Amino acid sequence: MICLGIESTAHTFGVGIAEEKKGKGTILANIKKSYTTKKGGMIPALASEHHVLNCGTIIREGLEKAGISMKDVDVVGFAESPGLGHTLRIGAMAARSLSVMHKKPLVGINHCIAHLEIGRMLFGADDPILMYASGANTQIIAYQGKKYRIFGETLDIGIGNFLDTLARHLGLGFPGGPKVYELSLKGKKFIELPYVVKGMDVSFGGLLTNLKTKIDSGKYRVEDLCYSTQETVFAMLVEVTERAMAHCQKTELIIGGGVGCNKRLQEMSKIMCKENGYTCFIPEPQFLVDNGGMIAWQALLQYKAGKRTRLTDPIKPYERTDDIDVDWRD
Ligand code: AMP
Ligand code: MG
Repeated sequence: MICLGIESTAHTFGVGIAEEKKGKGTILANIKKSYTTKKGGMIPALASEHHVLNCGTIIREGLEKAGISMKDVDVVGFAESPGLGHTLRIGAMAARSLSVMHKKPLVGINHCIAHLEIGRMLFGADDPILMYASGANTQIIAYQGKKYRIFGETLDIGIGNFLDTLARHLGLGFPGGPKVYELSLKGKKFIELPYVVKGMDVSFGGLLTNLKTKIDSGKYRVEDLCYSTQETVFAMLVEVTERAMAHCQKTELIIGGGVGCNKRLQEMSKIMCKENGYTCFIPEPQFLVDNGGMIAWQALLQYKAGKRTRLTDPIKPYERTDDIDVDWRD
């Protein structure tokens, strides 16, 4: 069975082709194009325009890469939640059009859950916890009682948006995470910053204000601030992940989300897992960032479990991970 999946929850328009044979999954193609800027952040209306301009080409390239045509596709999947209304609508429109034109069933899925399921598929992980660190989302997710429950999350902005806003304040473009990382490598001195862990949750808003004040004062080296920022926020994330794993008695960690590409976050996560005797799975970057491959795989899983989405079903920008009944596992 083959599914073509479309991702458009934010800055990326992605198309993935997933195939399932005797319970084993393969990603045949994973093509994407992302909206970027040289200066300033992401403007949702411009990101959606980017998707409109690129969707046809990306869909064609995805099919070409997989060496198939639409008649070989059994299901059309798309991310229906959560994300920016502007951009979700473009992916939904493209998926609905393919579904109508080629008479294929349509399955809308939750993007956050796809990050966990692609990790299970790629590594054969049994029951992992997901440290989901992306632009808009920061959540620690684990399976319990037929749901993917959130055991810790950001109380305000996502960790990626935090890094992007910091980068914007430093006059760097979008996405800012990789730029903060580059500067952090030249950091020499650790500057004490607010470390905000409340119960199992984290918060970045106060830290952002603190950093902006420090930057504007001109008293600190930017490289030291970037280095100290990473050490602080990644320690916060790893701390709540470690506690969630102990609480849920899970022994496998999967990293997901674009911030998961960060080598320092990966290193800290591996150290925590090693100290506890846990396994740490880190997908390659193409499956860490927003991508169509994981959407295709998730839609395939849910199609097989009976899910169907109607053409008239709306997108769900605010749907939470724990709103979904997980009926495709065990
Ligand atoms: P996503 O929403 O999952 O596609 O992730 C996008 C976010 O990942 C943006 O906020 C980027 O700044 C961030 N990001 C990408 N690469 C890195 C990196 N190497 N270090 C930190 N953040 C990153
Ligand atoms: Mg994501």
